[in-house]
Amino acid sequence: MNKLIAIIEDEPDIVELVSINLKKANFQVEGFENAESFFRFLKTRQPDLIILDLMLPDMDGFEVCKALKSQKRYTTIPIIMLTAKAEETEKILGLELGADDYVTKPFSPKELVARVKAVLRRLGTKTDEPIHINIGETIFIDTEKLEVMVNNKKIDLTSTEFKILNLLASKKGFVFSRESILEHLWGNEKIVIDRTVDVHIKHLREKLGEGARFIKNIRGMGYKIEE
Ligand code: CA
Repeated sequence: MNKLIAIIEDEPDIVELVSINLKKANFQVEGFENAESFFRFLKTRQPDLIILDLMLPDMDGFEVCKALKSQKRYTTIPIIMLTAKAEETEKILGLELGADDYVTKPFSPKELVARVKAVLRRLGTKTDEPIHINIGETIFIDTEKLEVMVNNKKIDLTSTEFKILNLLASKKGFVFSRESILEHLWGNEKIVIDRTVDVHIKHLREKLGEGARFIKNIRGMGYKIEE
């Protein structure tokens, strides 16, 4: 079955242009002119990826992102944000809220389709990695269900936080530079500054509670997991 992409965008021209290009690339597409109609749809079907405009008539795109990421069953749906604002702070806010990528208007529909594929590929590559990883006796990661338990209690991570934890845990003791973490998260699209990694790690540590002690910051180098 073809993957379903939801576009939440109030400009019909953009929805049409993006839809045509996504359909050409064998995706199913559903367009929504506001957040309300999208959330109504979400009760019936879950898209594989969401393209989300920042400026919507009824709700701010950040709010939509936050609402999705705060609900367990939606937190793993990747989000690409569309925005006319290219400012760094906007990008950081979007990424902190769990958006997986960012596209600034005006964009080429081909580029957007490429981004959609890249995000889906990034999330879909599980190859021969182990399904379960434990850190000490405290943290258990299920890379198939995308779940993390701390002391047998499930915690909710954004997709970005999960990806960072999973990356660090995949090679315990190895120091990952901020740059390599960013590359893992967003491929070669170097649109974010280093500080973003620190922000995600900070949130991740807060959520890990007692398990936070395993994530070590190596000054001037990056981060690693030490048991
Ligand atoms: Ca708009």
